[in-house]
Amino acid sequence: MKCVSSLAEHFEISKPKRRRPQIIILGLPNDVDKDRLIKGLSAKNHYLCEAKNKPLFEVNFSIRARFSTNWIISVDPSIYKRLFEFQGLYFEFSRLKFDNFFGIKQCRHCRKFGHTTKWCPRAQEALCENCGLEYPTDSCREIACVNCRGSNQRSGTTFKINHRPNDRLKCESFEKQKANLVRLTDYGLPSGTPG
Ligand SMILES: [Zn+2]
Ligand SMILES: [Zn+2]
Ligand SMILES: [Zn+2]
Repeated sequence: MKCVSSLAEHFEISKPKRRRPQIIILGLPNDVDKDRLIKGLSAKNHYLCEAKNKPLFEVNFSIRARFSTNWIISVDPSIYKRLFEFQGLYFEFSRLKFDNFFGIKQCRHCRKFGHTTKWCPRAQEALCENCGLEYPTDSCREIACVNCRGSNQRSGTTFKINHRPNDRLKCESFEKQKANLVRLTDYGLPSGTPG
């Protein structure tokens, strides 16, 4: 008994840590690299750093297009509201465009959420490219979303299924994924979620 109680003293009970909000910065010149971005953001937006100039953000990755690059950064919950409601974001001589970023993985092969094509458990199967369903693409007659159909079958939801699985405006399964992600994210706001 004594042993058990002393063991318990060595473990702190902590709440599961929620993830930090991610934002996407749009349209930076292609020649900006990670280092220049961190230095530039820190120089023009003092609220992004702590007293000792330690950044309250972290650069995660970039998505390069032909003429410009978008950057994904995660920010400390303590500055999220300030970023969106008051301060904006400046870099070198421009004011930057940015938005919330919801990093939800979706497989391009089977169209399911939570993994990428590289890790697809169904990589060897021929699936419909429109729907992700179990038939070849050329016999696809009616677009149906594999995720919404699956959810209706498994969980009794009544999601509409007549959309492509990558149609993020129509897909209610995607909305659900997004809502889960938001729930697991600490926006540092009293209401808990971004407006
Ligand atoms: Zn897959
Ligand atoms: Zn199909
Ligand atoms: Zn759907």
